[in-house]
Amino acid sequence: MLALDTQHVRMNQHAVDKAQALQCLVDILVEDQLVQPEYIQGLIGREQQSATYLGQGIAIPHGTPQSRQYILETGVRLAHFPEGVVWDGENKIYLAVVIAAKSDEHLQVLQILTRALLDDVSERVQNAQSAQQIIELLQAQPPSLNLHENLITTQAVVTDIDDFLWQASQLLKQQKMVESGFLSQLQLKNMIHLGEDIWSISANQHVLSPAVSIIKAEQPIQYQDQKLGTLLCIASNPQLDMSQFNRLMDIFFDPEQLQALSQQQDAQHLAQLIGADVIPDWASQRVILANAHGLHARPATQLVNTCKAFQGEIQVSVDGGQFVSAKSLTKLLSLGCKRGQTLTFIAEPETDAVAGLSAVIAAVKQGLGEEVEPIQDEADTVVAPEPTHPMLSETLTVPDQSQGIAASSGLAFGPAHVVKPRQFQYERFGSSVKVESEKFDIAIHQVKNSIRQFIAQSSIDAIKQIFMAHLEMLDDPDLIQSVQRGLKQNLSAAAAWHEHIEAAAKAQESLNDRLLAERAADLRDIGERVLAVLCGAPEIVEPQEPYILVMHDVGPSDVARLNKDRVAGILTAVGGASAHSAIVARALGIPAVVGAGAAVLNIPNHSVVLINGDTGEFVVKPEAQRIEQAMAERERQRQLREQAEQHCLEPAITLDQHAVEIAANIGKVHATAKAVEQGAEAIGLLRTELVFMSHNSAPNEAVQEADYRVVFDALAGRPLVVRTLDVGGDKPLPYLPMEPEENPFLGLRGIRLTLRQPELLRQQLVALLKAADNRPLRIMFPMIGRVEEWREAKAILDEVRAQHPCEHLEVGIMVEVPAAALLSPILAQEVDFFSIGTNDLTQYTMAIDRGHPVLSAEADGLHPSILLLIDQTVRAAHQHGKWVGICGELAGDPKAVPVLMGLGVDELSMSSTRIPLVKAQIRQLNFADCQQLAQRALLCDSATAVRDLVE
Ligand code: PEP
Ligand code: MG
Repeated sequence: MLALDTQHVRMNQHAVDKAQALQCLVDILVEDQLVQPEYIQGLIGREQQSATYLGQGIAIPHGTPQSRQYILETGVRLAHFPEGVVWDGENKIYLAVVIAAKSDEHLQVLQILTRALLDDVSERVQNAQSAQQIIELLQAQPPSLNLHENLITTQAVVTDIDDFLWQASQLLKQQKMVESGFLSQLQLKNMIHLGEDIWSISANQHVLSPAVSIIKAEQPIQYQDQKLGTLLCIASNPQLDMSQFNRLMDIFFDPEQLQALSQQQDAQHLAQLIGADVIPDWASQRVILANAHGLHARPATQLVNTCKAFQGEIQVSVDGGQFVSAKSLTKLLSLGCKRGQTLTFIAEPETDAVAGLSAVIAAVKQGLGEEVEPIQDEADTVVAPEPTHPMLSETLTVPDQSQGIAASSGLAFGPAHVVKPRQFQYERFGSSVKVESEKFDIAIHQVKNSIRQFIAQSSIDAIKQIFMAHLEMLDDPDLIQSVQRGLKQNLSAAAAWHEHIEAAAKAQESLNDRLLAERAADLRDIGERVLAVLCGAPEIVEPQEPYILVMHDVGPSDVARLNKDRVAGILTAVGGASAHSAIVARALGIPAVVGAGAAVLNIPNHSVVLINGDTGEFVVKPEAQRIEQAMAERERQRQLREQAEQHCLEPAITLDQHAVEIAANIGKVHATAKAVEQGAEAIGLLRTELVFMSHNSAPNEAVQEADYRVVFDALAGRPLVVRTLDVGGDKPLPYLPMEPEENPFLGLRGIRLTLRQPELLRQQLVALLKAADNRPLRIMFPMIGRVEEWREAKAILDEVRAQHPCEHLEVGIMVEVPAAALLSPILAQEVDFFSIGTNDLTQYTMAIDRGHPVLSAEADGLHPSILLLIDQTVRAAHQHGKWVGICGELAGDPKAVPVLMGLGVDELSMSSTRIPLVKAQIRQLNFADCQQLAQRALLCDSATAVRDLVE
């Protein structure tokens, strides 16, 4: 950040005219190695366009954009001309602030200088005797404390003190009052209890502009045996105008005012109570600034003049920040608005300024006297973009036969009914906050009502549950609050809603856990339904004959609304097998193939399509013979599954009497009973982060204990393998704030995170040991890559165990980082077991993001490199008498089962629905053959070769 410094001031400079002054300035810059001598051309050129006189005897000469090539380093120098230099024909300057800025840093200098210009300082500038005096003059106005309604959040959902601090610093960051790093400066030892449930905390590092943010929780939390309902977060700095700060503190030290503040739930009223600026509910219009060098002095002067043509007040803010008068040059410059930022103008009601806003917007669009390259201005009508998916960029020729992802079992054929993604048109900005808020409330109400009707009409539990989850999403205070924040920034209800839902869906999609990522479809589903109401769009009309529904993605409510007697099958361009839409399709018994690529949207309506929900294949215009074959195959599979299910409770023993334990992976505690019914002999992986995610706030020890008891009870003595929390940058928990990371997969994830928050780990371990009640419990730590991590985690468990004794406890690690597999001979001496997470082990070994839209298919767990790591791990474990399980997707893959058996794994853990079939498959295998097969697989050169070998 540029700053004014006494070392950079040259006193007693002399110049007879402007040309000599400019040369003097360039000489200073050259001497300080900021520019090359040629920069003088830029300074002269700029003055020819228009003089850089700022006011108060100060000029800010700077080069043209073309002269930036002569800048060696960005910097500012000040030259004092005590005799004065005539600058623009009528005005004399006594101080020149010459700027060499490679980009738009000069706006920062303007922001600093404009503070000085709010006062009448010209005489003092002329008579200044020292560099120190100059700097003090320019910074004469101590920075004032920003107190603004935009910095207040009420009814925040806050679960603990970390959450409070995070939200408070985020608010300051959004309003550009602080920069990254501020949060880490907030030390709990600086928390001050002001009275009632109000606390304050402050920090003065990483502060861009002093400000106070206020977070008022919907429900107070307990903090140090007191209530904490409101947090004032003060971003201070040493030059802060203390009188203003003291005035604020006087309010908070007055018991009556404090009580009023503690009870106030409305952000605007709260702002008024503390004397903060409120957002006026005036007519508004927005425009994106297109001027290449931002709103610098020249265009700002034009803007002032345009606004002054109207008598009523016009105010402006940048990117949702504080409003200032658009008729004050210094205030405009203090905004430091850059190209691409949005200016919001508001006009005083019942004055000529309301009608004048359009002229102001037009002037800004035209460049305020400068030539501008227009920016795609979204400020008018918005077409809600279709959900983006990499597949949409594929060549869109219709395939005759192709492959998608098998999502719901069964074969189906019928005429295609292609429903293309819908586009909605809406105004980006609304008429008034009040009107848009009302529209939004009505739309939410309407959608909730129709969802309630679906719930009442549906006889299928899975569907009811999904719609109930949708209702909960629509009630989510976080979601409603975010949209309301958008409305306050004058967005239309449709724009505020769509922007928030899209952002939330994208965040969800970016999660590496497929199950969680696919919940983005639910968000988009409710998103589209509310948007459709807000835009008055009609519902999709269903054709009259049984058809194959072809869509970009089918939202759960689409599936449920469709008459299953009419929908023979579903084929989608995007989506995964575990998306809710697939779950609903399964519940309805509708065969489905998903993720088949955007080309399917080009299938002509009414052409016959055959889909195979077991293999993911689909055929457009199949021959009659093909349909007959498919039907015969369907019958064969039905019989196989029926037989497998009849024997699913029997053990998995090969023909030559080798037994392997078959377990289930679950993410919901209530899924245990179903897993046992399907033949699970244990839970081989309880993904506890998913259990956490089913709670809106962090489950405390008692809630966790109750959750884990559900699993133990349903297991009735069978073992439970629990993985401690595996959250991290790619799988964030909403209530566990984390700094964003560039490479979340390689960042604070799994054990790396919990070892840095040992209380979290300790609490989970206590809950587990208590819930176990001496029933068989196996605890494993995720993402172990270093022996130290394992030892540290184990030490914590030992401490907890000393307090909460637990019999039948085994402690192990997940092997999902190649380092752990390679170190298995050492780790095997210390752990009780290994469970190999092939999903991550493949990702980290092949260096392919497991959710990568293009590459993930190449990350096959049967790649010989992964098999070699599994082989080494199994050997090391067995040498030390320890057991090894596989809990990645590979464990349920029919081609992988014989190889993994042959490598000697002791347990396979998979999704429950796979269990009957995998058990049936193992009963047909010969272990000695599997061992031979595995040895040959280890010598293969590719995953394809391994798959061919198994075939
Ligand atoms: C794995 O990585 O294989 C695993 C089972 O863990 P998750 O899929 O939950 O990352
Ligand atoms: Mg994993």
